[in-house]
Amino acid sequence: MVRGGRCSDNLIVYIQAIRRVTKLTADTKASVESLLGLDKWDWERTSHIEITDQNLCANCKLKPCLKVCPARVYTKEGAKIAFNYEACLELRACYIACHEYGNGAIKWRYPAGGKGISYRFG
Ligand code: SF4
Repeated sequence: MVRGGRCSDNLIVYIQAIRRVTKLTADTKASVESLLGLDKWDWERTSHIEITDQNLCANCKLKPCLKVCPARVYTKEGAKIAFNYEACLELRACYIACHEYGNGAIKWRYPAGGKGISYRFG
């Protein structure tokens, strides 16, 4: 994963990750859900994701955060955008989409000290 890279760098990494998962599921005939079940999460007590201003979200036409995250971290709850940082796959797609096509409300960092997801490939 590219840390601190440009949006286009991160988008390439995201696309490569999707391709890897697609190939892995085709090779093993395993579902994405069963592959995700192999992974391990060690959560931080505080969220590494933040929505800085719900007014930006209320005025966001496309709301791409609801569409790009394969873990469906973001949900719409009434007029607000809610998120479950504990399901984050650390693809950073939400941040890229929010800042490229939304109103830029997402603040995102990698979980500190090795916390977050550890990928396992079987
Ligand atoms: S994409 Fe960003 S600004 Fe738009 S609704 Fe989602 S978090 Fe809010």
